[in-house]
Amino acid sequence: MTRLAIIGAGIAGRSLLYALAKGNKKFSEITLFDSDSFAHTCSLRSTAIVAPRGLSLGHSDLGDLLVGAFQTFSSHIENDRPAGVFPITQYTGGLSKLDDLKKRYPNGEFAKDFSLFSFRSDVYMACENAYLIDPEIYLEWLLNQSSTLPLIQKNDFVLSVDEISEGVEVKTQNGYTHVFDAVIFAGGSVNRFWNKQSNDQLSNIKPVQGSYLEFRNVNLGHHSYSLTLDGDNLVYHAHSHKLLIGSTSLVTHYELPEMNSLLEIYKRLQSSLELKLPDFSAAEVKVGIREKAPKRSPYIKNHGKCWWIGGYYKNGYSLGYDWAKKIIGKMEIHA
Ligand SMILES: Cc1cc2nc3c(=O)[nH]c(=O)nc-3n(C[C@H](O)[C@H](O)[C@H](O)COP(=O)(O)OP(=O)(O)OC[C@H]3O[C@@H](n4cnc5c(N)ncnc54)[C@H](O)[C@@H]3O)c2cc1C
Repeated sequence: MTRLAIIGAGIAGRSLLYALAKGNKKFSEITLFDSDSFAHTCSLRSTAIVAPRGLSLGHSDLGDLLVGAFQTFSSHIENDRPAGVFPITQYTGGLSKLDDLKKRYPNGEFAKDFSLFSFRSDVYMACENAYLIDPEIYLEWLLNQSSTLPLIQKNDFVLSVDEISEGVEVKTQNGYTHVFDAVIFAGGSVNRFWNKQSNDQLSNIKPVQGSYLEFRNVNLGHHSYSLTLDGDNLVYHAHSHKLLIGSTSLVTHYELPEMNSLLEIYKRLQSSLELKLPDFSAAEVKVGIREKAPKRSPYIKNHGKCWWIGGYYKNGYSLGYDWAKKIIGKMEIHA
């Protein structure tokens, strides 16, 4: 196996490159295909928090998997010190579904004033160590760290992938034909269109739209943080003075956001918090399309010389590096 193609340069594709650069460099040539203008990169339209979210081992397969991914990500941050990743506190709480909340966060407390926040009434609140990610900076860092690889980047969209006797033939929007020894599909919500090659294994995957408000030039102090209040999120990036509020979730493939739902989230947060939010009209609306696989579980699939990785749904930044290492391990066994 010498010539590898990776389709997709979101967090899945770039984590793959990074893991390849850190491991054994088995490939003589790696081609990375991506086209944000043709299929918008969800990783650039993401609130991008990595947090344990009160999960612990031994309750569900998905929970175990996410706990493992959080540990891998934490070690990656500690050892590799990537740009664009900031240690923060994740505050999670609310006034509804208290039984669930207390079960998940037994160490929370009722308070009107909690750390950086003042609420209009007592809320149940817990906090945990987490990471805030600036997607543009971290994704760029992952690519820069992969400079030791024999990498060719193509701003082009892959239209067909067919196994032939010499390998895997890839045809693109710009009219090129390439042949590789192996192909990895890391195309996010676009992976579901490649059912034919995967023997229909991807047919149960659903695209899920997520949108949020982004306010610029906001000054809420020196500390970045993430607050989740009854499922509504408020994320403050102190380094870039950005405030994010969201996010919605709608099972659809289109990008027109649900403005009413965003307004409701904004109003709920404004009425719970003793904090003057910027005017709703000042927000830029960001929309990403996530990929939800059965049981919300990420997947690695293989058929012949083709591999698929994805299904990261709401946890792309947690799972990226952990699952990149997993697929590389599996490919080495098959080689
Ligand atoms: C509103 C919102 C909030 C979120 N919050 C969080 C969060 O707090 N924490 C977290 O960890 N995750 C979060 N997520 C989820 C996370 O952003 C996604 O799981 C992750 O970005 C998916 O990454 P990906 O690399 O699989 O896909 P993408 O980022 O979509 O990348 C796929 C790339 O493949 C390219 N591509 C696809 N097909 C082709 C083709 N045929 N040829 C060439 N290129 C192709 C596309 O152009 C795209 O650039 C959130 C998502 C949304 C929408």
